[in-house]
Amino acid sequence: MNAKTRDVIIQFPDLTVRREDRLLIAGPCSVESRDQVFAVAEVVKEAGFHFLRGGAFKPRTSPYSFQGLQEEGLRILKEAADAFELKIVTEIVDANHLPLFQDTVDVLQIGTRNMSNFQMLKQLAGSGKPVLLKRGFAAKVEEFLLAAEYLTSGGNEQVVLCERGIRTFETATRATLDLSAVPIVKKLSPLPIIVDPSHSTGRSDIVRPMALAALVAGADGLMIEVHPNPQKALSDGYQSLTIDSFREFVVEMKRLWPFLT
Ligand code: PEP
Ligand code: MN
Repeated sequence: MNAKTRDVIIQFPDLTVRREDRLLIAGPCSVESRDQVFAVAEVVKEAGFHFLRGGAFKPRTSPYSFQGLQEEGLRILKEAADAFELKIVTEIVDANHLPLFQDTVDVLQIGTRNMSNFQMLKQLAGSGKPVLLKRGFAAKVEEFLLAAEYLTSGGNEQVVLCERGIRTFETATRATLDLSAVPIVKKLSPLPIIVDPSHSTGRSDIVRPMALAALVAGADGLMIEVHPNPQKALSDGYQSLTIDSFREFVVEMKRLWPFLT
């Protein structure tokens, strides 16, 4: 028996996203420049998505990799979101940054590396902002759901889970997309769950089929990386769709839409 699911995935004074609408998020891995973000925001809007993603504070594996434009990145996101009437989803890596995010960001993303940062989860529970909680790359479903409870039990009802792949022995993909987590979470929790086919596969050539598969498996939404010039991207170019490929994906998704429950 499925847990009693909420009909509304996420709600703002001016936008309600219901389960039947899906929570559709796209944008670059990192905010790199105004031109880059505006080019992607335009196609995100054209696709009918309501949410623009982009990392301003980047939790990189190597300290020598691009760490994000930080405050400047948030300013660029805000400008693009205002211009195209989109909501902003971006990762917060430190609860001390909350005042910076408060006026700019619509959805706080907690990345895979911080899913188990319980102190931070407690601090963000009281932020009053919806949270997109990504699954830790070594977290069991049970641990993922318990991490979410740090937010819900702390008073934050607007939590959306995101399956983004887990680490296994397989090296053909960056992580292993655990699509079975989607129907399992639905049995165990009333929280919505979306899928990130970009970080889980790490390969732009298979993002589209896995995104479609996620919807068929019952995902409440998707988060997809898109870059105007993936070869020049400062992070995750190899998994980012080009603008044209994203457009083609949206056509495929719309063809599938009438068959989704
Ligand atoms: C991201 O979505 O920008 C990101 C860093 O993903 P993850 O935390 O899943 O690695
Ligand atoms: Mn990325």
